[in-house]
Amino acid sequence: MKSVRLMAVHAHPDDESSKGAATTARYAADGHEVLIVTLTGGERGDILNPAMDRPGIKENIEQVRRDEMAAAAKALGVEQHWLGFVDSGLPEGDPLPPLPEGSFAAIPIEGPNRALVEVVRDFKPHVMITYDEHGGYPHPDHIRCHEVSMEAYEKAGDPEAYPGTGEPWTVSKIYYTHGFIRKRMQLFSDEFDNHGMDNPFKEWLARWDERRNIDDLMARVTTQVECGDYFGQRDDALRAHATQIDPNGVFFAVPLEWQRRLWPTEEFELAKTRVKTSIPETDLFAGIED
Ligand SMILES: [Zn+2]
Repeated sequence: MKSVRLMAVHAHPDDESSKGAATTARYAADGHEVLIVTLTGGERGDILNPAMDRPGIKENIEQVRRDEMAAAAKALGVEQHWLGFVDSGLPEGDPLPPLPEGSFAAIPIEGPNRALVEVVRDFKPHVMITYDEHGGYPHPDHIRCHEVSMEAYEKAGDPEAYPGTGEPWTVSKIYYTHGFIRKRMQLFSDEFDNHGMDNPFKEWLARWDERRNIDDLMARVTTQVECGDYFGQRDDALRAHATQIDPNGVFFAVPLEWQRRLWPTEEFELAKTRVKTSIPETDLFAGIED
């Protein structure tokens, strides 16, 4: 197959490295064009790595996160584009406080819609990746990421829509990325037990089961992309987001050999398609003609 274009739309810098990252690295390595679109600058992300909680970081967080993102894109071998909106932050408290004025999820959606349609018409992706209707994780920017991605999928090919943003381009398929698969966590948890090692998943799984049944997510998966050879690049990209990711955290607890043996894929749900394909799939580009 000749080069096909893949666009992954993400809310914050670091999301591209934790959701479907190895898949984007694989398609880039196979010679396809891969573009990450980052909707916000991640300005309100907390410093989650104790080693990075030091003077000079918080004061310069915008530039720090830009530098981290550039290093992550390099690790994955993909291109990246900022859409330039402001991180809404994750509201906490009861009742929830209002979203910060001017932030991505607080401004009228028309501006973000128009900005993403313009990028789609310029890059001309055959396939897009975004989050499901719950955002994959209940952050207002993630839910809005879903909304603007779906609008771009629907309208970028409509010559009447969004005049002044370039020639119409019809995207063939759009996927949701599904990272939190309970069965995968269970396999890793069992492997820790089998080795008689400290199991970082045990408590997590117990808490998870108390909250809601996430097993259902696997029932939504239509497409599993083999990408174990790219897990190393995924981890390098994650570590590049040094303020957001603790290198001693659970993300890196599972040896790559276990991951490649027990669960060498990433999971996606085909949300909409304009081409014929058959489910289950192993390739996001299935059904796309040369
Ligand atoms: Zn995010």
